[in-house]
Amino acid sequence: MTDIWPRSKRSEVMSRIRGTNTLPEMKIRKVLTAAGLRYRIHPPGVPGKPDVAFLRSKLAVFVHGCFWHGCPDHYSAPKSNAIFWRRKLEKNRYRDAAVRDQLFAEGWVVLQFWEHEVEEDPILCATEIASTLDKLNADFSGSRVRWIRRGSAERHSRSE
Ligand SMILES: [Zn+2]
Repeated sequence: MTDIWPRSKRSEVMSRIRGTNTLPEMKIRKVLTAAGLRYRIHPPGVPGKPDVAFLRSKLAVFVHGCFWHGCPDHYSAPKSNAIFWRRKLEKNRYRDAAVRDQLFAEGWVVLQFWEHEVEEDPILCATEIASTLDKLNADFSGSRVRWIRRGSAERHSRSE
């Protein structure tokens, strides 16, 4: 592969794709900050260390990578090492479900976005977060929505 970027640019890009602070997450955070919302990033002590968390409202937000978490629109299994990758995906999904259950058990509300949803329209995603927060803050009666997923993810979970 040819080197098309200078070293500085390359390390900037690498730092984006490495670790937990991935680009889509940063995009959504930027919008939330611009909207004046205050949140925590990967708070320790909260199950699954959500990408964005509102501690007082108990709203946890995850941005799931289309590949690692098996997005119904974009996941395609690698052709080599097929079994390895299938197991990997199953393990990630199992962990996602376990984290959700643990959050529900502790009274959290969970919003999950796919990486591509954030890439396509971070403002729409942030709007959904803000309106969920409004609902949560307006209603402490115990009839809170427990689990919210966006369109494509919901369709997928039904067909599972
Ligand atoms: Zn996707």
